[in-house]
Amino acid sequence: MKKILLLGSIVSLFAFNNAEVKAAKKVDLIVKNGIVLTMNGEKEILDDGVVIVKGNKIVEVGDKKILKKYSSKKTIDADGGIIMPGMINTHTHVSMSVFRSLADDVPDRLNRYIFPLENKMVSQEMVYTGAVHGSIEMAKGGVTTMVDMYLFEESAAQAVKEIGLRGIMTQNIIKYPTADGKDGDAKVEMAIAFVEKYKNDQLITPGFGPHAPHTVKEEDLERIRDLSKKYDVPVSMHVAETQKEFDKFKTKYNMTPVEYLDSIGLLNERFISAHSIFVTDTDIELMKKRDVGVAHNMVANIKSAKGVSPALKMFDDGVRIGLGTDGPMSGNTLDIIGQMGYVAKLHKLANKDRSAMPPYKVVEMATMGGARAIHREDELGSLENGKLADIVVLETRSVNMHPIFDPYSVLVYSANASNVDTVIVNGKLIVEDKKLLTYDEEKNRKAVQEFSKKVKKIAETL
Ligand SMILES: [Zn+2]
Repeated sequence: MKKILLLGSIVSLFAFNNAEVKAAKKVDLIVKNGIVLTMNGEKEILDDGVVIVKGNKIVEVGDKKILKKYSSKKTIDADGGIIMPGMINTHTHVSMSVFRSLADDVPDRLNRYIFPLENKMVSQEMVYTGAVHGSIEMAKGGVTTMVDMYLFEESAAQAVKEIGLRGIMTQNIIKYPTADGKDGDAKVEMAIAFVEKYKNDQLITPGFGPHAPHTVKEEDLERIRDLSKKYDVPVSMHVAETQKEFDKFKTKYNMTPVEYLDSIGLLNERFISAHSIFVTDTDIELMKKRDVGVAHNMVANIKSAKGVSPALKMFDDGVRIGLGTDGPMSGNTLDIIGQMGYVAKLHKLANKDRSAMPPYKVVEMATMGGARAIHREDELGSLENGKLADIVVLETRSVNMHPIFDPYSVLVYSANASNVDTVIVNGKLIVEDKKLLTYDEEKNRKAVQEFSKKVKKIAETL
């Protein structure tokens, strides 16, 4: 009798487990056992959190109790690490990574050094090689989306896609002859061909990248305004980056650079304004009214001694503002974690207020702020049901990562890019255990090394 009862209970236990297994929904990826920074509207943190991914989307975020509802072939154990949304680099020139560390402290470096160097060295091959190199750095540093602007942008887009990142890739348009075209007109044509080719790509959003208000002809700006509307694609541009630029527009038009661009009709929800250091309070109001995005590139701005952007005021006033690295010749590194500490500390110093720019705000700028700046806040920037699965895990085993009394503080003041352990973009695992899964890093290192020999020869003549 006892035996039968025991057998009966085993059978029912088995049946129960079986029913549970049957009820478990099949998903593609589970990330568990970490501190989930959702970055949602409630600023929710889940201490023993789980993120469930199916296809390219997040289907549920919750505590460990939700685990029993799902089964997946692949589960990532975050081992007490920090699980957060992929970071967004809102302004860079990824391909310039092959020129990194050249002539870092030359005054007026853009005109005296960078433009001549680029005229001699830029090719489709260089843009591709540089973009692979820079994208690997971003991927391994937890950046899942970048806004890029460069020459031969299609070659950069190809590389970004191969590494598996999202890119808002904008073809550079400038009035001077460059390696990819004799004038602004030729480059607008290149941009159109690129936009048409990549318009429906899942990872790449093509767009127009007019260099700056003073380096692009007005008629080209007008064409870009019309074309970006026609194709409904973004425009990224350096705006109000130097005092010289600000003064020039004041003298010539009695307008600020921001007012000048608005007079052409360029400022709208498709526009991403990089730097924006020399902006007045009226400019900030205008940028908010026109719904433009702003890329705050603190490290590049400090290094070039240009100034401190009123990024804190813009953020508090509700301007769509995210963080950017600028190109690797300007800010030298391409990860956003490296920006965060500077953003927090420089704004404290500039405002003479220790409580200004607290860590949460900086992490928000790196994630949701970036998503807002590119008008993709419905899809990116936070870990929430229905959003695209761009997820980063930082390990907290390393000595710089604990104790954790405040995970935002850890991220902003003590983490670095090498703490990034796992990166998922569009539901696909691209970095696991700090190793890139999508490209042979050794092949990249050799290609960059080979190219640097040519760079060295040319650089000596400048
Ligand atoms: Zn730039």
